[in-house]
Amino acid sequence: MAQPQPRSGQRLYLDTSISYLKGVGPARADAFRRLGVITAGDLLYHIPHRYEDASTVAPIASLEPGMHGTVIGRVISKGIIPTRRGLRIFQAVLRDDTGMIEVSWPGQPFLDRTIAKGDTLLVTGSVRFFHGRQLQPREFINLGDDESATTEGRVLSVYPATEGLSFKVIRSIIEAHLDSLLPLVTEYLPNEVLSAAAVPAIRDALRMVHRPTSLAEAMQGRERLAFEELFFVNLLHLRAKSLAREERRGIRFENKRDLTTRLKDGLPFQLTGAQTRATREIVADMCSPRRMQRLLQGDVGSGKTIVALFAALLAVENGYQAAIMVPTELLAEQHWRTMTALLEPLGVAPLLLTGSLPARERKAIAQRLASDEALLVIGTHALVQDATLFARLGFVAVDEQHRFGVEQRKALAAKGEAPDVLLMTATPIPRSLALTLYGELDLSVLDERPPGRQPILTAMRAESGRARVLSFVDRQIEQGRQAYIVYPVIEESEKTDLKAATTMYEALASGPFAQRRVALLHGRIDASERDAIMRRFRDREIDVLVATTVIEVGIDVPNATVMLIEHPERFGLSQLHQLRGRVGRGAEESFCILLGDVSPEAADRLRIFAATDDGFEIARADLRLRGMGDLFGERQSGVPTFRIADPLRDEALGERARAAAERLLESDPDLVEGSHAGLRRVLGERYRRSLELFRVG
Ligand code: ADP
Ligand code: MG
Repeated sequence: MAQPQPRSGQRLYLDTSISYLKGVGPARADAFRRLGVITAGDLLYHIPHRYEDASTVAPIASLEPGMHGTVIGRVISKGIIPTRRGLRIFQAVLRDDTGMIEVSWPGQPFLDRTIAKGDTLLVTGSVRFFHGRQLQPREFINLGDDESATTEGRVLSVYPATEGLSFKVIRSIIEAHLDSLLPLVTEYLPNEVLSAAAVPAIRDALRMVHRPTSLAEAMQGRERLAFEELFFVNLLHLRAKSLAREERRGIRFENKRDLTTRLKDGLPFQLTGAQTRATREIVADMCSPRRMQRLLQGDVGSGKTIVALFAALLAVENGYQAAIMVPTELLAEQHWRTMTALLEPLGVAPLLLTGSLPARERKAIAQRLASDEALLVIGTHALVQDATLFARLGFVAVDEQHRFGVEQRKALAAKGEAPDVLLMTATPIPRSLALTLYGELDLSVLDERPPGRQPILTAMRAESGRARVLSFVDRQIEQGRQAYIVYPVIEESEKTDLKAATTMYEALASGPFAQRRVALLHGRIDASERDAIMRRFRDREIDVLVATTVIEVGIDVPNATVMLIEHPERFGLSQLHQLRGRVGRGAEESFCILLGDVSPEAADRLRIFAATDDGFEIARADLRLRGMGDLFGERQSGVPTFRIADPLRDEALGERARAAAERLLESDPDLVEGSHAGLRRVLGERYRRSLELFRVG
């Protein structure tokens, strides 16, 4: 086989620009860039996102109506057929050595442009009888005019593609260059890591993912690449954590058992075992000379606030300032109110700092923060604004931390001289997964709820039950309770037929709840108006709050007993769980009702939610079903993104990667040993952060 050479005749290197490769012109190089493939080396790491196992291909002649099967055949004729109802159908006839079959794609006339006569298609679908046998494709791959693609027993690699660069072109380019590129790659994982992980060496792994002889082999190659990704992320996390400890020595608080003990003795309830444990972990951290960077995970209602309050008081009794940052004004006020009541007997009066405070009051608070006075302040992101200066900030807590960007979280901590940091989240995830995602942080978990909570009754109701559901809500209001009704969108649009908050608000307020006080709340209403509405709801001036998910965070209105959610299939399970957590906060029995007709698959998913009120279990199901993006939101959450590994599916691999990273850093914390040079190089190339952490590159 001829060795493909860069067009210029120069030698090929891994960092040779992709545009020098044979078969890649300027247009394709542009398209490759969109896929993140810039160099020849990137091409090697552009790995298939799925495989078609052509070894299971059936002869066309063997297909019978009612069967499900995969065939490979050549297009011998094709065309667009209009139907009377205006639908245009693309049809092609495929032939292999055994026979012919018609394949039909209703509503996809555009395929006429991408499928040519003479192309070979791999089609998976079901066979029905329609003027003869007809294959209805579920999936297909155009293998082009590549004859060799039909070779039996091959596993076909399917690559992420983009406009102007089909997977099949990518495949042929990789295929053409694979043999000359592989020898250029040298192993960069240290021997001891590789053997402990029991994954293939890099050259083998890359060959396996691109040109597997079996599906099992492809998965083995993938495992190596997933492992290294998890291993690198763990290396960076662990290193960042140890640097933060060494270089930024924190404040060494003293456990004076003054304010904290008095708070504990005065509490109207007993701390749960989990609260006691978490508090102890936090106090130990704060009393050590190292700086605390800790994540407090706990389900909705597990009582995170009081734990943060103990930590804050420890700082205050040591003469420091403590700040608790929350995402909304309403939540800030709510926390401030509860804490003011709890701290009154201790003679501590917490401050409240929000954007809507009159300038004069804000100035007065700013003056106190800038003085040496020990104090506790609760506020919104107003706390991180430039004008806010702290003289002695010793502790910061960020509640509902996922609502803030990484930068805002850092900005608060930067307001002091290495204050101890506590992040709080109500999206609990399994411990091992949390270690992969938030590996820089230490972890405390509240896995227990305060006793005596009424369980929330969760029910799924079909559209046909709407009238009954609404009259149930009305009866609750009659008894003095309040209700939330939540919609997935603010306004109706032509693209979907979703019921929207705005229209439904009008319909409900003039129809079923004409006698009730109804209000509308969504994200496009401005923040101060939104807070005003929530305040009225809290003060029982509103019976029914028609809303979008803006209400999901932290709001505590114990008199609200109904959470009615429309189009529940549109929400993630964890999001539903947050919404449900808005009720069941008082002594009365509470209800969460999912209303609407949903697909059988969605119903299965929703049943998982209805059957449990364990946030950990729900988050796990959510991750499994919808992936990380949905759980952590599109917003930059500070959670690392993975190209190949799936931290949930690859949980066991992640644990191995973490253990390997720990061992390696124990023996060579700066990665300076000669045998780790390759590792340093690859880290430097792939992770910007590694530059500051290891001084590589
Ligand atoms: P979350 O973890 O969702 O932030 P909160 O801190 O808001 O939960 O606590 C929810 C409610 O439970 C509050 O009203 C709080 O006073 C109460 N609470 C917290 N800890 C306990 C406890 N140990 N026993 C009884 N009630 C508690
Ligand atoms: Mg909370």
